Amino acid sequence: MRRCVMALGLAVLSGLSLAAVFVEEYKSGIVWPEPAVVDPGPAGGPPSDATVLFNGKDLSQWQNGDKWEIKDGVAIPRETGIQTKEEFGDCQIHLEWATPAVVSGNGQGRGNSGVYLMGRYEVQVLDSYENPTYFDGQAGSLYKQSPPMVNVCRKPGEWQTYDILFTAPRFAEGKLVTPGYVTVLQNGVCVQNHYELKGGTFYDRPPAYEPHGEKGPIHLQFHGNPVQFRNIWIRELKPLVGKKPE
Ligand code: MG
Repeated sequence: MRRCVMALGLAVLSGLSLAAVFVEEYKSGIVWPEPAVVDPGPAGGPPSDATVLFNGKDLSQWQNGDKWEIKDGVAIPRETGIQTKEEFGDCQIHLEWATPAVVSGNGQGRGNSGVYLMGRYEVQVLDSYENPTYFDGQAGSLYKQSPPMVNVCRKPGEWQTYDILFTAPRFAEGKLVTPGYVTVLQNGVCVQNHYELKGGTFYDRPPAYEPHGEKGPIHLQFHGNPVQFRNIWIRELKPLVGKKPE
C-alpha cells in the first residue's frame, strides 16, 4: 500500500498519468508452508537440522567405521572403505579433508580418497597441489567424467572443505527418468556447477547408469593413503511444497 501511495505521489510530481504507473503486486496464489527455522551453527556447521556423520569422536554411523583410525579428532582411512548405515537421496554434504603433509607417491597415488554419492558417484579426493594427473581424476573432479573448473587445492597437510549438493537420479521401470546432478564447492570455490552425471564413475569403463533405489549410502574411499577427515555432516534436501487453492 505504501508503495502504491509513493508511486501515486511520484506520478503527480512527474505529471504522468495514473494508469502508466500504478503497479499491482504479483501474487502467485500458492499457499506455502513456512520454511523451517534452522540454526546455521558455527562457520562450517553443522546446522541444527544436519545429521552429523563424524564429529571427531567415532565413526559409529558408518559400516566398517571401526576399521579406520581415529586420532586427535580426525578419521584416517585404513583397511577398507566405509559407508553410512543410513541412506540418502537428494542432499547437501559438508566434509573437511587433508592430504598427508609428508608427500609420498605421485599422480593418483598421492593423497587419494573419494566421496561416493549413493555409493556410486565419486567426487575425487586427491592431493592435487602441484601433482599432475589426468584432469578428470584430480581433486574436485567427478571421476572420469568432469574435471574441476579450477584447481583450488591447498598445500599437502592443510585442511580443505567440500560442500556438495546432490540431486539423485530417478529411475522408473528400470530406466533412467532424470539424471543426477552434482555441485561441488572446494574451499568455498565452485568447481562443479550442477554437473549432469553420465552414470556411475568407474576406473575401467565408461560412465553408465545402473538403476538403483531412491536412496543410497555415502561411501568414503580407502585408496591406501592416510588422508584425514573431520567435520562431516549431511542434510536431506526437500523442496517446500505449496498448494494452489482450487
Ligand atoms: Mg579416489
